[in-house]
Amino acid sequence: MQITVSFSLDLPESGDINTVESLVVEAGRRAMAEAIQGSVQAYEEQMKTCPRCSGTDIRNMGLDQRVLLMSFGRVVISTRRMRCNQCKYRFRAADGYLACLGEIHMTAALAQACTVTGMLCSYDNAVKVLAKLCGVRVSAEQVRRLMQRSEMLDNTNHVQV
Ligand SMILES: [Zn+2]
Repeated sequence: MQITVSFSLDLPESGDINTVESLVVEAGRRAMAEAIQGSVQAYEEQMKTCPRCSGTDIRNMGLDQRVLLMSFGRVVISTRRMRCNQCKYRFRAADGYLACLGEIHMTAALAQACTVTGMLCSYDNAVKVLAKLCGVRVSAEQVRRLMQRSEMLDNTNHVQV
């Protein structure tokens, strides 16, 4: 399975490499979001059976949008809604692919960036650093919760050791 994403860039008449760098980063982020959407579609196309009854008579019922918070920004993807004609079960074809994001709709890489940044500075400043470096808006409350969660995981690990 392979996906190809390309981007073109309009270079400004004037400006130095610092100007071009920010243009490349922006275009790169758009291309990365496209690659994520492509990976979702590739996963969906592999889904040929109902996850409940394994029936093969599944029907496309349209698209939903989902917002993902990722280490390179906020990505809006389209996911397919499906229905099984055999057992009437309704599901989204990419549910299994996206289940690891949990209710915060955040990838592990961004969650890690949040906890590391939250360790280094106040939650309010962490929000600013993450916006600047990752191009993503998270709230101070989200950073606080992720810090709590990672402390709980650390404590659990210590008990096990
Ligand atoms: Zn079914």
